Amino acid sequence: MDIELIELFPNSIKFILSDVTLAFANAIRRTALAEVPSLTIEDVYVLKNTSPLFDEFIAHRLGLIPLKFDIDALELNFRDECDCGGIGCNLCTVTLTLSKETDAQTSTVVYSSDLISTQAGVEPISSVIPIVKLGPNQALELECMAQLGKGKEHAKWQPVSAMGYQAFPIPTIDKEKCTNCLACIDACYRGVYQKTGDKVQIANPLNCTLCDYCLEVCEPNAITIGKDSTKVIFSFETNGGLDPSTTLTKSGELIIAKIDEFKKTLESTLAEEKES
Ligand SMILES: [Zn+2]
Repeated sequence: MDIELIELFPNSIKFILSDVTLAFANAIRRTALAEVPSLTIEDVYVLKNTSPLFDEFIAHRLGLIPLKFDIDALELNFRDECDCGGIGCNLCTVTLTLSKETDAQTSTVVYSSDLISTQAGVEPISSVIPIVKLGPNQALELECMAQLGKGKEHAKWQPVSAMGYQAFPIPTIDKEKCTNCLACIDACYRGVYQKTGDKVQIANPLNCTLCDYCLEVCEPNAITIGKDSTKVIFSFETNGGLDPSTTLTKSGELIIAKIDEFKKTLESTLAEEKES
């Protein structure tokens, strides 16, 4: 297996994965979406709310604010596996508080930056996510409990917001058939082809999404789009809570743990079968 990095940003990654099957790529995708944990507000205690929005509406908004955290440094337990029995303690819960009010002359917007975390390193990924607008003489006072969760329980815990892969594209132009009509350049919205002099050339083959629009407009049938079935182009964005490399590493660790568990279960089942 080989990994070739195409691009890496704080919240997104694109790479080529070689010598794998699509099923393996799908295992990574499904594990990252459903099994890699992230931290999100789950319970909200409303102490005072005279804003225009009712409590449940505000709680729903708070649950959708991604929280930045260091998954290894924080060492949080899942609440349902914690020694506290699921009540919530500082080993499984991070508390965030919010308190804002206006006087008779002012109105203001309550933003995610108004959430004050009691745990260092835990904070909303953006300071300007609006929660509610307070008019004159209105107030909002809350205590929020954030906990680890998995995407398979609720989508708000998915650490990635867009994750996909595709077969490795190999677009080619038959120079003998190509009339350089340039129709493929207009048809391809990903900029795979470009005009060089008076000829069409393939400029960005990895941008090809296998949509086949270029094949439809190429009257001389000069273009073919092949696929390398041993390679996939993998790309995804995170919601900002975990960085892309941590998300991938955790995904790999969880797959290995599941395979180890499967191996142990299989060995004990076969041993029991032999004894009987
Ligand atoms: Zn606990």
